[in-house]
Amino acid sequence: TATDNTDNTDIQAHMRQLIDALKKNNYAYYVLDAPTLEDSEYDQLRRQLIELEDAYPDLIQPDSPINSVGDQPLSAFTQVTHDVPMLSLGNVFEMDDLRDFMRRVNDRLSAAQQNPEYEMELKLDGLAVSLKYQNGKLVQAVTRGDGQTGEDITQNAKTIRNLPQWLPEASDIDLLEVRGEVLMPKAGFERLNRIASEKGDKVFANPRNAAAGSLRQLDPSIAASRPLAFYAYSVNQGLPDSIDTQSGALAWLVDLGFTVSAVRVLPDLKSAQAYYESMIEERADLPYEIDGMVIKVNSLALQQQLGFLSREPRWATAYKFPAETVMTRLQAIEWQV
Ligand code: NAD
Repeated sequence: TATDNTDNTDIQAHMRQLIDALKKNNYAYYVLDAPTLEDSEYDQLRRQLIELEDAYPDLIQPDSPINSVGDQPLSAFTQVTHDVPMLSLGNVFEMDDLRDFMRRVNDRLSAAQQNPEYEMELKLDGLAVSLKYQNGKLVQAVTRGDGQTGEDITQNAKTIRNLPQWLPEASDIDLLEVRGEVLMPKAGFERLNRIASEKGDKVFANPRNAAAGSLRQLDPSIAASRPLAFYAYSVNQGLPDSIDTQSGALAWLVDLGFTVSAVRVLPDLKSAQAYYESMIEERADLPYEIDGMVIKVNSLALQQQLGFLSREPRWATAYKFPAETVMTRLQAIEWQV
């Protein structure tokens, strides 16, 4: 009917507005490392578009960014195609959502596989990097980019002090791929911004953007001067067959010489929730920023069985913390009481 058409035109116009806003802000965040929106504001725009697309699947636009990862890699760097795509993560915000996530996992598993063990890690707020080691020697470091193709930042990665360039215990592994997060600890970030503002230079919006901006410099001496750190969180090629869990893979990475974040194996939803809540309390005292937890099915065989959606694995999700601005507002209310 005519009314439907009018409605559809409005909905399409609204979708277009949201797509354009998301694309513009993806570019500012992923390519320029200089976002102009708060993450919570960006996430709200994204959720609005997801809701519209769920309600009107016929109107989904071919250039919708909902199922894409990151943005185009910078052309100034050599482009590298990932052997295994580097995806994003789905996210949940409260216990009911986490329960739904675990239910969706169960729905895809056989009766004997129900309620698998989970493992929880900190969701480090930096940028994802893939490292390749040939016979124990670091040969390549690449950013996530758009998930398929990233930027070769090997020279910059080599300046990160806790990122091992030589793994004696992996010298018998032809190709080892380790992924993790490059981040800038809070103290180093504050020092960097203080010095920049004293000099009248541009300051970074947050440690995540400072880490990304530092790693994606053409001159490696700039990255070398920045306080970056690498935290490993997965082995994507070359893991010994004897290791069959995510927690086992992380313990192995520690033995090889990598730094990993706090890891805990959890039997059920209740214990996962308790760990999440305890980390909300501890968050402010950590030396680096985290924006939530990541919960993963611990068995690597089950991970493989569960597989991936276009943008994210089915076997893991981010359990996001409340936005810090909201926390500040809550704290402000407490102060007034
Ligand atoms: P994401 O950061 O929400 O989740 C995926 C990433 O988590 C992975 O790529 C990996 O780098 C990281 N990660 C950290 N710890 C991990 C661990 N232990 N195990 C596995 N992965 C781990 O997804 P995204 O697609 O990189 O970015 C979305 C985020 O970026 C949202 O928070 C959004 O608000 C923000 N963003 C903001 C703007 C803005 O304008 N402010 C624009 C675009 C995106």
